[in-house]
Amino acid sequence: MNSLGQQCESASILPPQMRREVLQTYPSIDRRLVEEDLACVLAPHTDGEHYALLYDHFPAPIMGALWTRWQDDELPDSFWIRPDCPTTSPHSDACAHFLAHPGAHTWETR
Ligand SMILES: [Zn+2]
Ligand SMILES: [Zn+2]
Repeated sequence: MNSLGQQCESASILPPQMRREVLQTYPSIDRRLVEEDLACVLAPHTDGEHYALLYDHFPAPIMGALWTRWQDDELPDSFWIRPDCPTTSPHSDACAHFLAHPGAHTWETR
């Protein structure tokens, strides 16, 4: 959340059951680094799902990060690895979102 209001303010938590599923699915991940307080990373949006980063410390050759999503008034119930958004700004700033994310790139909202 930032004072400029350029980020969606939806927040959620990682349900314990889903955290267990994440650790079972990817037993090699560092459980201390799994995000449990989730905040939507997208620019403000009035419809669609919210997205948050769960884990971004995979070793090569896994490319990308683990993401989850949720609807308003619901808890996250799925997770999946998405490649990073490959788009860079005219000043070569990388976008911190996933491939084919909805909304603006991170460098467009800074
Ligand atoms: Zn959102
Ligand atoms: Zn992007």
